[in-house]
Amino acid sequence: MTKTLISMGLWGLAAWLAGTWINATTGWAILVFGLAAMILISGAQLSKISRWARNIEAPPPVSVGPWDDVLAVIYRQLRKNHSKIDELHRQVDSIMLAAEALPDGAITLDEEMQITWCNKTASEHTGLKLATDKGFSIFNILRAPEFAKYGRQVSWPEPILLHLSKDGQEKSLLVQLTPYGIKQFLIVTRDVTQVEKLETTRKDFVANVSHELRTPLTVLSGFLETLHDMPGDSLSAEQREHYHTLMMEQATRMEAIVADLLTLSTLESSPSSIGEPVRLAKVIDNALLQAKTLSSGQHVFVENIDKSLCVLGIESELASAVSNLLTNAVRYTPKDGTITVSWYITETGSACYSVQDTGIGIASQDIPRLTERFYRVDRGRSRATGGTGLGLAITKHVAMRHNAELHIRSRFGAGSIFSVEFPAPRVVIQPEDSPPGA
Ligand code: ADP
Repeated sequence: MTKTLISMGLWGLAAWLAGTWINATTGWAILVFGLAAMILISGAQLSKISRWARNIEAPPPVSVGPWDDVLAVIYRQLRKNHSKIDELHRQVDSIMLAAEALPDGAITLDEEMQITWCNKTASEHTGLKLATDKGFSIFNILRAPEFAKYGRQVSWPEPILLHLSKDGQEKSLLVQLTPYGIKQFLIVTRDVTQVEKLETTRKDFVANVSHELRTPLTVLSGFLETLHDMPGDSLSAEQREHYHTLMMEQATRMEAIVADLLTLSTLESSPSSIGEPVRLAKVIDNALLQAKTLSSGQHVFVENIDKSLCVLGIESELASAVSNLLTNAVRYTPKDGTITVSWYITETGSACYSVQDTGIGIASQDIPRLTERFYRVDRGRSRATGGTGLGLAITKHVAMRHNAELHIRSRFGAGSIFSVEFPAPRVVIQPEDSPPGA
């Protein structure tokens, strides 16, 4: 403004001087010329400014006379606003990334319960596709009648458990609705399928244990009652001995179940470690002694054992797996059958312990279930031979803790091969006369 006033003043002064010294007409001409020039320059400056206004992101034009100061202030304010907007964008992006990374599903709804946004986990949980489902009611996506009822509540203090079926698979979802902001809603979903499965397994396990222990306990208490009700001298020494043997059998069975349960619980609760080199040939020798005692000379044993082959692991756990497979072979192989025990290094460098028998074999549909706790193909035969139904569950667990795999191949009526294959990094070769680990 000052500059404009000075310019006008100067033109006025020049016109007055010309009017005084030359003549009035020249003075007026200079004044008109000066004002016209000022108007033209202002017009050019304004057109520069209007061009800039169309692309306000660019720096403002320079040399626009009195507008220079105004534009500088506007531009500074614009830059400040820009950096604030950028910062807000960064914050929103980071919040959105955090919401995407949530292990739980999150869905936001407007006041009509229509979907406004959801993260990837929520899409996986519910099958919701934001691109096509945005703006649709959540009740079109979660169609379970329980959810419709839940959604109509006025408040949602508790989550609801929904059982959904997706791609032919059952899924259990814990869904919690929460109001937020102004008439907006947030749905949080959590996949609890595994938790539910574990809970069912736990319940089944407790029921199985109770059942397994109750049977011998019932038999035992039955005998005790009978003995109690009988007059002292009414039993012959032979009968007394017979009852005693039967009671011992039941007690031994309970003991075996409890011992296996304790082994399983130890395996589950102790942290797995790499262990140390174990000369498995020695462990197999001990297990063979037990197996031969159990067999009482009824089976032929063939041994192919590499004595220099050691494996990194926990000896007590390996001993349990080695002996389980061997005693099973004896128990499920009729008289005169052959049991072949092998411990060898494979072409790929892994080490394999295998027990092959010519026993009763297993039908293919039973094979995948053999490692389940208390699963037996023939309950009567298992019990009659002192089985607990936990041996293969223990063996599988031991294998897993040694990064090994339990393979089962069998043909009903023709025999079976059970093998545990240890990966190459666990294999150690030590000559027979040096202690393992030396
Ligand atoms: P159990 O104490 O009953 O033997 P396991 O867990 O060791 O329990 O084995 C589970 C079931 O697998 C057995 O009941 C039996 O039916 C079957 N099985 C295990 N080993 C053999 C084998 N060598 N031959 C045939 N069947 C076997």
